[in-house]
Amino acid sequence: MSIPPDSAAPASTIIPVQLGLHDKFQFRCHKGIACFNKCCENIDILLTPYDVLRLKNHFGIASREFIDLYTRDCELDGHGMPGLKLRTRDNSTACINLTAQGCGVYVDRPAACRYYALGLVSMRKKDTAHDEDWFFTVREEHCLGHLEPIVQTVCAYRQEQGIDLYDDVNREWRQIVLKKRSAGPTLGQPSARSFELFFLASYDIDGFRAFVASSGFTDLFELDPAFRLELMSDEVKLLKFGFRFLKQVLFGENTIAIKPAAAQERRMRMLQRAASTPAARAAGLAEAQDAAYHSLRD
Ligand code: SF4
Ligand code: SF4
Repeated sequence: MSIPPDSAAPASTIIPVQLGLHDKFQFRCHKGIACFNKCCENIDILLTPYDVLRLKNHFGIASREFIDLYTRDCELDGHGMPGLKLRTRDNSTACINLTAQGCGVYVDRPAACRYYALGLVSMRKKDTAHDEDWFFTVREEHCLGHLEPIVQTVCAYRQEQGIDLYDDVNREWRQIVLKKRSAGPTLGQPSARSFELFFLASYDIDGFRAFVASSGFTDLFELDPAFRLELMSDEVKLLKFGFRFLKQVLFGENTIAIKPAAAQERRMRMLQRAASTPAARAAGLAEAQDAAYHSLRD
């Protein structure tokens, strides 16, 4: 199983026939099939933020502990944007969650496992505000599910696999990753601190909660006290808030109001920068991000 739910381009094992939500495809996976769990024996699974949240709660451990025990690092964009992949068993390509009885985390399995044998491509055309999603079937030799005489729509398959909820929670995060990937160097190289914050808000939900509760965060951002309380007790809300925060950190969007005194301080910094040349401004972007978020240590 090697197809992340937001593949940029189909690989050679994929039949790249574009499918819409109401198109049909032939496939069925079930416990009695001869290839049962073959797809879990050779994995390359990119984890989304909601995957990590569901899995760390499945094991009843903190997000940091889950990351240490069950994931390995990867890059999302080839320029240092940090990602996580599901770990394999030692000296093996098999998923760490694979047991003799099948998937050991089935009810909380990642989005990529739910999607299989479908792949998703999300694209945003220039000057449009919405992503266009299309799907394709993934055919790997070991997978006999394509021979099963069951035909269903993409939409019905997604419902059966519980994909809609995962996509709903992860949507904004995927947009952030896509925007960063497609913008490449035109946005400037984000600072190391920006990427640390990206990792924190994307995957380490317990660390991010403590960060939002910290005095550094409260001193900088305007947050309604009732909303702040909700964030402390609702992990999905907190995750989505984290995505808003990342748009501010990575792209400078005003997604969370900054307190007037802090805003004034930032304006002064921007004015100082405006006095320098355009080239110096571009080079100074990463530095500015570091300065702006310097007080926010997790
Ligand atoms: S049918 Fe395909 S997805 Fe299902 S167990 Fe077999 S290899 Fe895995
Ligand atoms: S999480 Fe479960 S379904 Fe996904 S690869 Fe691992 S064992 Fe297979």
